[in-house]
Amino acid sequence: MFTGILINKDESGYRASCEQIDEALLPEGEVTVRIDWSSLNYKDGLAITGQGPVVRRFPMVPGIDFAGTVSDSRDPAWQVGDKVVLNGWGVGEAHWGGLAQQARVRGEWLVPLPAAFSARQAMAIGTAGYTAMLCVQALERHGIVPDSGDILVTGANGGVGSVAIALLAKLGYTVVASTGRSSEAAYLKTLGASAIIDRNELSAPSKPLGKERWAGAVDTVGSHTLANVCAGIRYRGAVAACGLAQGMDFPASVAPFILRGVTLYGIDSVMAPQLVRREAWEHLGRDLDPAKLEAITHEIGLSEAIATAGQLMQGRVRGRVVVDVNR
Ligand code: NDP
Repeated sequence: MFTGILINKDESGYRASCEQIDEALLPEGEVTVRIDWSSLNYKDGLAITGQGPVVRRFPMVPGIDFAGTVSDSRDPAWQVGDKVVLNGWGVGEAHWGGLAQQARVRGEWLVPLPAAFSARQAMAIGTAGYTAMLCVQALERHGIVPDSGDILVTGANGGVGSVAIALLAKLGYTVVASTGRSSEAAYLKTLGASAIIDRNELSAPSKPLGKERWAGAVDTVGSHTLANVCAGIRYRGAVAACGLAQGMDFPASVAPFILRGVTLYGIDSVMAPQLVRREAWEHLGRDLDPAKLEAITHEIGLSEAIATAGQLMQGRVRGRVVVDVNR
């Protein structure tokens, strides 16, 4: 038996609980992992609270990421004792996930724990931080350099936003943070933000083109915010869009794209190929300041994950939540 969060949906409703689970119920997969740390991402919040249609099979162990140690392997690429990390691939959605003491997964979904990080640090970064890195890499590949101008980060206090600010500041960019929580301005400045704007400036319908303000942007919010971000990007700048915290809609015009040559990059972490993942983790190892990572990290035990998921959905969690699955 092992301890894990289990989500059920039946006649009595949708519910998540912390339970003892029989090992014999672990799903198919070549590699069994003893999990040390997991984390809470926005998608885990949706899954645990049932506020979004994330879970595609019941019962489901949520948790879209984990770090742990291989305890059994039928995949020659992985040996007992190997330290591994998993992000995405539908784990915690269609395949039992990381908010538990054990997981069984396909070998090709795993990456080695990066040498730069402990298992706890890897999950403090988690899927949110690895996605922030994918966004920053998209802007870098576009040719945006620190001298190009300011970079906007929306949803600044969230997991993706916090890591994106820390990374961009370390790389020498001037970062503008958009947030609904101005009370957290000091925290955002500690991470490296140079200026803070109120997210209300961007969240309502507005003109197809605005003043050219930012060379690039990382958007975690979607909806009108993404439309206004695109409308405020400078000539030939770019936006890396990864999130939908405001909404999944995109009520925009083509004006920024056809009149200013703005590029919109879609960022998906879930099905990203192995090479892309490994490059992102290596880049994180080089450019994420461990002290800043610790400053954005809040640790909880597995038994607190359900309550914390509710707080995450209410926008009351700052930075990243790392979960010790063994307490
Ligand atoms: P968090 O919950 O940690 O952060 C989201 C932040 O968005 C909040 O802290 C808040 O920031 C802001 N926000 C919340 N509600 C609204 C709103 N109604 N309008 C505007 N801003 C709002 O989530 P994550 O950082 O983990 O994830 C952010 C987004 O990125 C999510 O939509 C998630 O699904 C997506 N994501 C996508 C991935 C991909 O592969 N494409 C991978 C990982 C995440 P503040 O208080 O500063 O305003």
